[in-house]
Formats: sequence, C-alpha cells, structure tokens
Amino acid sequence: MYDLQIINAKILTQQGQINGCITVKDGKIEAISSSPLGNSEQTLDAKGRTVLPGFIDQHVHFMDPGENEREDFIHGTSAAAMAGVTTVIEHTHSHPIRTVEDFERKKNYVEQRALVDFGFAAHVWPGQYEELAKLWQKGIAYFKMFTCTTHGVPGQNSADLYGAFANIASFGGKVLIHCEDEALTAHNERILKRNHRNDGYVIKEWRSKAAEAVSVANVCFIAKETGAQVTLAHLSHPKVVRLVQQAKASGAKLRAEICPQYLFFEEDGLAANGPFGKFTPPARSAQESQELMELVKNGELDILASDHAPSTKAHKTAGTIWTTPFGLPGIDTTSAVMLTAVNKNKLSLERLVQIYAENPAKALGLYPKKGSISVGADADLVLVDLEKRWTIEDDLIFSKAKWSPFTGFECIGKPVMTLLRGQIIMCEGKLLGKPGDGQFAKRA
Ligand SMILES: [Zn+2]
Repeated sequence: MYDLQIINAKILTQQGQINGCITVKDGKIEAISSSPLGNSEQTLDAKGRTVLPGFIDQHVHFMDPGENEREDFIHGTSAAAMAGVTTVIEHTHSHPIRTVEDFERKKNYVEQRALVDFGFAAHVWPGQYEELAKLWQKGIAYFKMFTCTTHGVPGQNSADLYGAFANIASFGGKVLIHCEDEALTAHNERILKRNHRNDGYVIKEWRSKAAEAVSVANVCFIAKETGAQVTLAHLSHPKVVRLVQQAKASGAKLRAEICPQYLFFEEDGLAANGPFGKFTPPARSAQESQELMELVKNGELDILASDHAPSTKAHKTAGTIWTTPFGLPGIDTTSAVMLTAVNKNKLSLERLVQIYAENPAKALGLYPKKGSISVGADADLVLVDLEKRWTIEDDLIFSKAKWSPFTGFECIGKPVMTLLRGQIIMCEGKLLGKPGDGQFAKRA
C-alpha cells in the first residue's frame, strides 16, 4: 500500500515532461509512471495541472530569533508553503550564527517553528575563523559575508577576503557574499548628505553600480586565487553578471544569484516609493532589468532567491530614507511573479525550475534528494495552475510585513498545492502545515 498518488499530472522531471502519476511512500518519491501503480491511502487528481519540484529559496531573513516584530519563522515559512517553497536557507544579521553553540540553539528553537524544511547560513567576522570548519561540519549551508558594513555586520576588506576564502576553501566550504565597495558607498554618502539629500533617489546614487562592480571584480579575483566556492548575492545589473561569467570562464568556482526585484522593477519607479523602495544593491534601469531577464533565460544566472528581508509599514515609515531598514518582503511573491514571466515567454518553465530548485539544491549539497522529481527524492512538490489569473494584494501576504512591492501585480499562474515530504501543507490557498513540520535540511 502506497501513501499517496498524484494522478493526471504533467510532471516536470530531469528527463522532460511526463504525463501521469507520482507515487509517494514514506515521504519519498517511489515511482513516476504513466499510470497508477496500485492501491494508495490517498489519491490526488491534478486535473492535468503541472507538478514541479518544491522551490528552494536559499536566501531569506526571518529575523527569528531577532527582530520578531518584523518577521518570524512561523510567518516566513507559512508564506513559503503558500508559495510552493519547501526549503529555505535563513540567516538573521542581528542574531548571527558565529559558533557551534549559536547553531545548536537556533536549530533547536526553529525546529518547533518551521512549516517547511530549513537550513542556516553562518556569518564570518573579519579575521575570526576558529569556528568555521566546525560550523561547516554541523551542516551550515554557507558562510555569509559582506564587503561593506551592512545591517551591523562588519565588511571584509581585501586582506580579510583572502584570509576567509582560503580558510573556507581548505575544508570545502561555501560562501554567499554581498558585494558593494565600502569606500565608494561611503564617498557617495558623504556627498549626498553634504547636499542635504533625503529623497528616495539617494539610494541609486549612494549604492551605485560602480560600487557593486568594483567589489564584484575584486571578490571574483580573490575567489579565483584562493579556490573558494563563492556565490555572488543579488547581482543587480548586467555588467556584474558579465564579470562573474569572465571569472568563471577562467576557472573560478562561482555562482551568480538574482532576485525578482532586479527583474521587475526599475530605479526611478522605486525611488518614488521612498522607504518602500529601499534595498541594496538597488534595482537599476528598465533596460538593465530586461537584459537581466535575458541572462536568466539564457542560463547565465545560476540561482534565483527572494532575499526576503521584510519590515512592516510602520518600520519602513519611521525615520528617514537614511535610517529606515533596507530590504523587501519577497518569499510570498517570488514564485508567482516568475510563473507570470514564464507565461509571458520571458523564460521557460524548465529554466525557472532550474534556478529556483535544481541549482540551489546542487549548490547547497541537497541534490537530488531535493530540487528534483526523481525516484528516491523527498516528495517535496508544488502543483501549479499555469492559467490562474489573480492579483497580488497586501491581504494575501503571509509575511509579517503584510505588504508587498508587487501589490497590484497581475499574475498568470499560481502554486495551488504544496507537499513537504509527501505531506500536504498547502491546498487551494489554504495553509494546512503547522509549526514543527519543517526539518533541518542537512547536506548529503
Ligand atoms: Zn540578504
């Protein structure tokens, strides 16, 4: 007797689309077949809709423990379940994991709170490497670093980068790095403040394209020299993507990450939104966002992540453009806006699955257990209605932010059912999962 069969499904596998049935036993995919195998406890009729591997969002901030009034694991992973995301990798800048003790404490806490599977990034402080190998051994997904002091996390200069990358490369660890040149952003900030600028347009001048590019070029060079495996976080314009491609072609072990905010927004539109358009690096011109979507389509960006970093409306509007927190809510909406892009022929469905499930699973050492529909894999699945037309509204946001930069966005396509290791955690817009359903996702 099997546990579950999903029948009449269009199933997106590595070998292409199969019309038929997925059989689940003990939380794993037992078979993919054209017709049902035999008796099962439960049968779900997909009614010809498409089944994809559950999405993997490798870059989210749930502020838990931390600034719980902005977000927490229960809200963040509820939003994930609603959006078809079955694994998240989280890190909180105000309460970073820097020691094995930090890791154990957070893991024990989050195990009671997560609705989807989860992993953590650890933070690296300049020159402090004692715990890094031990953290990697424990199953940390990657080490988060910054080249500019941001969110209270100290930036790493070139000497620090050499030290950290060499240390992390020595035990085969991985890095996700936020790249903006500290000297250039500080210089821009001084000029803007001298001119008494307080408007939303300061963001693009402060966090300039040059500041990002100088830092990306430097990080690519040092990654190549040290042999470190490095993902460049949230690349915001085509020039930095090309820098990564060139370094990759010369043998550097790099991956390039993109987020929806760089594919759908443009700088002047966001500037008019004041604090609600403040994130860094910022979105760039409309033309650059279109070019980035082309790069996604052509497979030149490896990983899609939301960089979910929410604040409530009250948090965003307290203070000035200089003091309001950086970041946008995103995990609620990433799959839907990307499915819409698929429907508008901006990228293929296969490419979306690659960048939001398969490639992150590979980067995180979770593949093929996660990120693929294959026999023996976890039955982490999302059923999508590719024809569903709907509009994103604040009321539909499960994140504590309760707003979205995509509010008003007209979607074509929606996740309608999410399964986590064979358990239905979302069905037709109803959240069925509960805190504690999620498990720690450990590397193979
Ligand atoms: Zn982030």
